[in-house]
Amino acid sequence: MKKHILSIMAVAILATGGSTIQAQDKNLEIKKKVEQYAPYTLKYDTKLLTPEESQLVGIFIEIADVMDDIFWEQSFGKENRDKLRAINDPYLRRYAEINYGAWDRLDSEKPFLPGFGPKPAGANFYPADMTKTEFEKLDNPLKTSQYTILRRNDKGQIEVIPYHKAYDRQLRRVDELLGKAIELAKDDGLRKYLETRRKALQTDDYLESDLVWMDMKESRLDFVFGPIENYEDALYGYKTAYEAFVLVKDEKWSNDLARFTKMLPELQKQLPCDPKYKQEVPGTESDLNVYDVIYYAGDCNAGSKTIAINLPNDERVHLEKGTRRLQLKNAMQAKFDKILLPIANLMISKEQVKNVKFDAFFSNVCYHEVAHGLGIKNTITGKGNVRKALQNQYSAWEEAKADICGLYIVQTLIEKGEINDITIEDAYVTYLAGLLRSVRFGATEAHGIANMMCFNYMQEQKAFSRDKEGKYVVNVKNMRSALEGWAALVLKTEGDGDYNAAKAYADKNGKVRPDLAKDLKAIEKANIPVDIVYKQGHRVLNIEKDSRNTVRSTIKPVPSNQIKFKK
Ligand SMILES: [Zn+2]
Repeated sequence: MKKHILSIMAVAILATGGSTIQAQDKNLEIKKKVEQYAPYTLKYDTKLLTPEESQLVGIFIEIADVMDDIFWEQSFGKENRDKLRAINDPYLRRYAEINYGAWDRLDSEKPFLPGFGPKPAGANFYPADMTKTEFEKLDNPLKTSQYTILRRNDKGQIEVIPYHKAYDRQLRRVDELLGKAIELAKDDGLRKYLETRRKALQTDDYLESDLVWMDMKESRLDFVFGPIENYEDALYGYKTAYEAFVLVKDEKWSNDLARFTKMLPELQKQLPCDPKYKQEVPGTESDLNVYDVIYYAGDCNAGSKTIAINLPNDERVHLEKGTRRLQLKNAMQAKFDKILLPIANLMISKEQVKNVKFDAFFSNVCYHEVAHGLGIKNTITGKGNVRKALQNQYSAWEEAKADICGLYIVQTLIEKGEINDITIEDAYVTYLAGLLRSVRFGATEAHGIANMMCFNYMQEQKAFSRDKEGKYVVNVKNMRSALEGWAALVLKTEGDGDYNAAKAYADKNGKVRPDLAKDLKAIEKANIPVDIVYKQGHRVLNIEKDSRNTVRSTIKPVPSNQIKFKK
C-alpha cells in the first residue's frame, strides 16, 4: 500500500499543474472506495464432507465461475470487460471487479471508470440505444421473457435471443460439468435436481427444476445457480441475471429452527398483546434452513453481498410448494465481525460491549424470519387482510412485527432453556447494536422505517440510555417492558388495519432523530466498512479443480502442499 502511494507521489513530482493533483485525489478516492469492502475468507473445513461431496463442491465452483462469466456479459459486456486488463491502477481495477463494471453499486451506480458515462438502465440485456417506443413496437412475445436478451442486427432491427442460445458456449461447458456432478451425486434429491436443472439451462424452462429443488430436503450440499433475480434489469425488470451459491447446510441450526417453528402456536398464545389480536393459529411448516456459503458468483457477488435467500421466484411454485428460505450463516458472521462489532465498539458502553455476540445476532436474524409467521394475517375490523388494509405502510409494519416478535421468541426460548449459549442481556444488547448498524444509512425503505420506529419507542421507554461517554447502555428491565409494549402496539396496528393511523405513526416516528443522526456521523467518520468482499474458491478450500479430466471414482489422499492447481 505504501509503495502505491509513493508511486503516485513520484508522478506528482514529475508532472506539473493541477491535473496531476486531481488524479492523485481521484486515486485516493478509489482506494477509499475499495476499502469500503472488508475482505473475508470463505473457509470451510472440507474434512466434514465426504470425498464425493468434496469433489462435487469442486465441480460446483467451476460451474459457478461460468455463471460469473455470463453475469459479466449481462452487466458489462465482454468487450468492456476485456478493457479492464489494461487498467494500471490496481485499486481502480479492483473496484471494477467488485462492481462487475464501471458503476458504483454502493453509490447509485455512478460511473467511476474513466471513459464511461451513466449506466444503461437495461444493463447489457438490451441494445444501449434502444428507445422505449422501439421496444413497445417490437412484435415478439419473447421480448418480455425473463430468459432472453435483445440485440440489434446488421440491418438495425432488434432481435430477441434466448439465453441458451446467447450464452451457448458457456452453457455447453456447464452441461459437461453437470454430467460429471450427476454421476457423483449420491443423494437422490440432489441428483434429480441437478438433472432437471441441466435440462433447464439448455431450454430456459426452469419450472420443473424449481419444483424438484423444493422437494430436495435431505442433501447437505445445495447449489443455487442459473438466471434468478431481475434487479440488474433496471429498465423493465424482466431479465434475470446469472448467479450461483455453493452451500453446505448447518444441520444443527436448521433442525433447531424446524423444531422451534413447530412451537409457533404455543408462542402465539403467549404474545404480549390483547387476546383479540392473537386468535389465528400460525402454520408450523416452514422450509427455513441455515447454510454456510462456500462460493458466491455472478449477481449475488456484485457489490453488496446477499446474506439470505428466499426462492424460487416462480409463483407457480409458491402455490404448489411454497418457498425455501436460506439463512447464510458465515456471510452473516462476516458482516458481524467486520461491520457490526466495530460499530458496537464505538457505540455501546464498555461494560456491555461484551454482550454483543454473533450467536445472539444470528438468533435475532433467524427468529425474525420465523416471526413473520406469528401475529395476525387478517384484520379484526372487517378490512380484509393486513397487507391490503395497510397498503404501502404494510411492509414497514410487517418488518417491525417480525423484528420485535423475533426478539420475543429468542427471549422466550432462553427462558425455557432451549437456547442456552446466550443470555437475555446478550440478545438485547446485540439487538440494539443491530438497530444502530441497520439505520447507518438512514431510514428510507421498510426495514429502516421499522427499525427507527422501534428505536424511538424504546428510547422513550428508557430501554436504553447513554453513559458519561455518550455510549449506549441497555436497561434489561426496561427493555423487557418496552419490548412487550412495542410488540402490543405493532400487533394492534396490524390487527386494526387502520391505514391512516399506521401511516401517521410511521411518518412521525419512523425517522432518524437529531441525537441519533450525530451518532451516525461518528460511525461515518470511523471509516467502518460497509460491505464484504470474499476470498474464496478451490485454493481457499484446498479442493482440486475438476479441470477437463474424467471424474475419479476415488480420491487418492495427496498431501495438501502437493496439490497442484490449474491457475
Ligand atoms: Zn423480514
